[in-house]
Amino acid sequence: MSEHYDVAIVGGGIAGLTAALYLAKGGKKVVVLELQDQIGGRAITNKKNGISLNLGFHALYAGVAYQIFNELQLNQDIFRKVNEFRPYGIWKEKLHYFPATADFLMRTKLLSTAEKVKFGALLMKILKLDTASIPKVSLRSWMEDNIHSPMVRHLLYVLIRGGTYIQAPDLHVAGPLFRQMQHSITGVYYLKQGWGSLVHELCQEARRYGVKLLTNRKVTSIDHRDGQVNSIICSNEERIPVSQVLLTTSPKVASKLVPFSEKTALKTWEDQAIPIKAACLDVGLRQLPSPKHQFVYGVDQPIMLNNVSRIGGLELSEQSDVQVFQMIKFLNQDSDPQHDRQQLENALELVQPGWKNEAVTEQFLPRMTVVHDFMHMNRKENPGPAVPEIKGLYVAGDWASHGEYLVDGAAASAKRAAMCILAQ
Ligand SMILES: Cc1cc2nc3c(=O)[nH]c(=O)nc-3n(C[C@H](O)[C@H](O)[C@H](O)COP(=O)(O)OP(=O)(O)OC[C@H]3O[C@@H](n4cnc5c(N)ncnc54)[C@H](O)[C@@H]3O)c2cc1C
Repeated sequence: MSEHYDVAIVGGGIAGLTAALYLAKGGKKVVVLELQDQIGGRAITNKKNGISLNLGFHALYAGVAYQIFNELQLNQDIFRKVNEFRPYGIWKEKLHYFPATADFLMRTKLLSTAEKVKFGALLMKILKLDTASIPKVSLRSWMEDNIHSPMVRHLLYVLIRGGTYIQAPDLHVAGPLFRQMQHSITGVYYLKQGWGSLVHELCQEARRYGVKLLTNRKVTSIDHRDGQVNSIICSNEERIPVSQVLLTTSPKVASKLVPFSEKTALKTWEDQAIPIKAACLDVGLRQLPSPKHQFVYGVDQPIMLNNVSRIGGLELSEQSDVQVFQMIKFLNQDSDPQHDRQQLENALELVQPGWKNEAVTEQFLPRMTVVHDFMHMNRKENPGPAVPEIKGLYVAGDWASHGEYLVDGAAASAKRAAMCILAQ
């Protein structure tokens, strides 16, 4: 490769593409190297039997990533805001109104009248919390100090899990978590034709600003000498001379790519990371056996079900009436794919009886990494943007979050890294 680049980005997911666009808009010549044969990472959308399926349950909360996509002037037409939310909850094999809306709070039998008042007041309190002023405490200690009713506490845990995809009350840091809750209460968006359209928009804009996007390029090593990056090496022996490199892989891969990483902050970031895993089942249904039940939280099981097609104009299917149900099971250390799938299928049977007769397509992803790390109590430091020991080396990705959750972490860390490079 003879071309000269100012910055090379390893990984073409949302973090890599976001950073590439900021850098290119800032006048840098950028190349993105992606291992897979398509750009997008965990945000790709695949077509199966004419139905667009994301890599599992995906919703975009009105947080930092959404602001960044606006700032980058992505086409607004791809975002579809959720206007109506009528959530149910599975509790002891039965469906109940879930108290996440005023109407369903009044009607639910999951709480006593006194608890309903407390639950409603608590949601209002969280919406108005100055999250930056909460001292560093775990979610569990905050809950135990502030909420006395076990059921109110439990339902709040369910809501939090639904907004963060993480169930770790002893590890969650309360402040950033409540900020994420505020985002998820303020607004939720789905992507027209799936998250792949977000990838498509980012790619199109990046190319327009001259970014080179290369697929099937596995980076194997970052060459650095005298404390400065000087080139990157790919599996086909290709060497790209470059003095600024942004790694958007997992923290484990980032460490592996950098010789002597054990002497750098990369080692701390890898060691402290706690990845979050989930099992996902998506099904396309010809019609809904029970149209009333479109969004369901597991109250006594760690699952969530959502008919994403309830949001108008998503165009997920070539046949207009097919409905796409997304289901997720939040996993702990031990998981058994067969059992996880069965649990999701059983839940769908409760919500949409006889669904199997209506199924036109299915996708089961048994152990997906939702995020490589999050803001937890055992974190020693927030990763990035710069790797302090090696000049010209930066990191981004959902694990390089400074308190943001999910894709917000990927986009926000990408912007931080790009700004840091542009400021050089
Ligand atoms: C099941 C599931 C559900 C989710 N739901 C939501 C949700 O509802 N809301 C939300 O906000 N977020 C959600 N997320 C999270 C969101 O998808 C991720 O945070 C985001 O896509 C991560 O982007 P990234 O760029 O950090 O990482 P990735 O997308 O993983 O990108 C990293 C890229 O690096 C490439 N790579 C790795 N090694 C190399 C190498 N050696 N050389 C070259 N390239 C390499 C990989 O192939 C990959 O494409 C979900 C994720 C999953 C898996």
